[in-house]
Amino acid sequence: MPAILIDGNAIARSERVLLKQRAGALVARGVTPGLAVILVGEDPASQIYVRNKARACAELGLRSEVLTLPATTTQQTLLEQIARLNADHATHGILVQLPLPKHIDAAAVVEAIAAEKDVDGFGLHNLGALVAGRALFPPCTPFGVMRMLEHHSIALAGKDAVVVGRSNIVGKPMALMLLAKDATVSICTSKTTNLAQHTLLADVLVVAAGKPKLVSAAMVKPGAVVIDVGTNRGADGRLVGDVDFEAVREVAGYISPVPGGVGPMTITMLLANTIEAAQRAAAR
Ligand code: NAP
Repeated sequence: MPAILIDGNAIARSERVLLKQRAGALVARGVTPGLAVILVGEDPASQIYVRNKARACAELGLRSEVLTLPATTTQQTLLEQIARLNADHATHGILVQLPLPKHIDAAAVVEAIAAEKDVDGFGLHNLGALVAGRALFPPCTPFGVMRMLEHHSIALAGKDAVVVGRSNIVGKPMALMLLAKDATVSICTSKTTNLAQHTLLADVLVVAAGKPKLVSAAMVKPGAVVIDVGTNRGADGRLVGDVDFEAVREVAGYISPVPGGVGPMTITMLLANTIEAAQRAAAR
């Protein structure tokens, strides 16, 4: 029997209904959740991501401010803009669209965002809070994956979870969030010598490597939950994940597609973090 589809579009839609209610309640109290997005340069993919974020904010009644700066912007100018937004009471969340031009130290820029406005959850304070089991703003992509698992009432305690990929924005926080739910977690990387040996043990397999068809049906335990974070452009220009979807769906118990899986959840969790930031600011 083919796997149950974990439909990120549908889950994101239902999450957004609840988020719109939360945002509406805040607006009624005179607090409009506000997100500032800073885009440096003219990378076409980044322009699309930023546009989508602004559109998603508008749909839920959030205020968004898109600050578009030229690729020649100095780090100092960018830091000054972040300092301005840190001090602005109408701005509850700030994110800098990555990647930044090479002459700018991205880590220093991310660190300049006030922890209570770091709705992407990429700053050291946020990552440290996650390590300590006291997540402040969980990074949006793994946060979205957790919501997808919750939506399907997939129990994690005592389960073997394997995360493929160890980036600071996906793999590592993903592993920490699964650990926080009492899964037994392994992390695989490009240096892992026998990837299949690990993936075959997974009750829950999250793949975030950026390598099309990295995971084949022979690498998946029958009945496993498979979440594909990978987003790759195929030779024909279409989006593909890291998992051989058609083959793996015949083996897995649950599977998320690409597109229509983790992608729509990521942006939804950004909205969730922004509303949460506004709620905390209102309570202070
Ligand atoms: P990244 O920074 O490039 O990290 C990729 C990770 O995968 C690295 O840790 C790398 O190992 C590991 N890896 C690469 N090849 C591997 C292999 N053959 N076997 C095992 N591990 C391997 O990428 P990222 O930012 O985490 O993103 C991962 C993927 O998710 C990309 O396709 C990205 O586009 C996608 N993504 C999607 C969303 C979404 O919303 N849907 C959001 C973020 C990212 P090393 O550390 O050893 O190099």
